Amino acid sequence: MKCLILGAGISGLLCARELVQSGCQVEIVERGQIGREASWAGGGILSPLYPWRQPAAIERLTQSSGQHYAELSQALKQATGIDPQWQQCGMLWFSLRDLEAAIKWCQKRKIAWQILSPKEVAELQPGIEVQESQALWIPEISQIRNPRLIKSLQQDLRQCGVILKENTPVLGFVRSRERIAAIKTSNGKIEADVFIVTAGAWSSSWQIEEAWQPDIRPIKGQMLLIKAKPNLLRLIVQCDEHYLIPRLDGRILVGSTVEDSGFDKRPTRPAFEELYAFALKTLPILKCSPVELHWAGLRPKAPGGIPYIGRHPEIANLYYNCGHFRNGVAMGPEAAKLLADLVLNRETNIDPQAYLPKNRML
Ligand SMILES: Cc1cc2nc3c(=O)[nH]c(=O)nc-3n(C[C@H](O)[C@H](O)[C@H](O)COP(=O)(O)OP(=O)(O)OC[C@H]3O[C@@H](n4cnc5c(N)ncnc54)[C@H](O)[C@@H]3O)c2cc1C
Repeated sequence: MKCLILGAGISGLLCARELVQSGCQVEIVERGQIGREASWAGGGILSPLYPWRQPAAIERLTQSSGQHYAELSQALKQATGIDPQWQQCGMLWFSLRDLEAAIKWCQKRKIAWQILSPKEVAELQPGIEVQESQALWIPEISQIRNPRLIKSLQQDLRQCGVILKENTPVLGFVRSRERIAAIKTSNGKIEADVFIVTAGAWSSSWQIEEAWQPDIRPIKGQMLLIKAKPNLLRLIVQCDEHYLIPRLDGRILVGSTVEDSGFDKRPTRPAFEELYAFALKTLPILKCSPVELHWAGLRPKAPGGIPYIGRHPEIANLYYNCGHFRNGVAMGPEAAKLLADLVLNRETNIDPQAYLPKNRML
């Protein structure tokens, strides 16, 4: 069976891996460069920012994916020599208005947690400016270096025989009754048996002759990258909408904004100032380290942040895995596995009902 994947972000690459490992012939068509949109722009935290506030449909995918990430990272490193740098660095929350709910959530799932005093915070992470009388610490939260994950996945897929076509925008579908016969691209038509839309924020940009379309909105997020020394920060720090993420080489990501401003991806000065002020307030020693980069990406938001995974309600060979909003990396492996199981008509690990397009028609 030939599967054609439309869009090479984390969602498309992980679907390709599942399908090629199951014996399918797989081709990916990407408008620009592999993985250079949201999947590159994100932070790589392998948990929702406030996991206890999430609907069950998001939690199921993130929890299950979380169990596979260490192994996936190791397998990719071995196969390609590119280390996606998975690490269980833990996460520290300040200013929690729903601390009780957070604790209940941990207790119910038997996840280790601790309430730390300012003195304990200072011992755990020297240099942090504590503004609160207490902080929540969950040591099991992990992260992955998403740009490296993409590089490594890309290399792995090529080694497995997947065809990756960059700089090839998909322009539309060629429909034949209740099926898609081919896609039209800037380089001509490409036929396949199954078509899978993984085009992130752009997943509803093709007209399909009055058929259903997923409801996806772009939500802009801006980030800064500070070039700090290794071990200055060892854990993820979260306070309201902002966070710091340490990478193994010392670099620190400062995120993020949440802006409903269409497909405009330009970084802005006010966002820079907001993020930089947060970074210096939280870890004042960062004033000695240069800001290396400032960028924005577009998160693909489906209603409720719950991705569409499964078959188009009216078109038999058209599938979706899109709309993961703030958690596309965290949900990635299990979302891709679910999609592949549905395409291949296999039993699924998790109940697909909450994600199926036919159950989510407006
Ligand atoms: C600032 C920020 C921080 C984030 N932090 C995290 C985090 O810490 N943890 C987490 O889990 N998630 C995070 N996210 C969310 C996560 O990045 C996304 O949910 C995820 O990357 C979505 O992946 P995707 O593959 O669906 O979309 P994308 O990565 O956007 O990929 C879609 C691809 O489709 C291609 N495409 C579009 N149109 C066409 C076309 N016509 N033809 C061919 N190809 C096309 C695009 O070029 C793109 O490469 C963050 C996002 C942002 C912006």
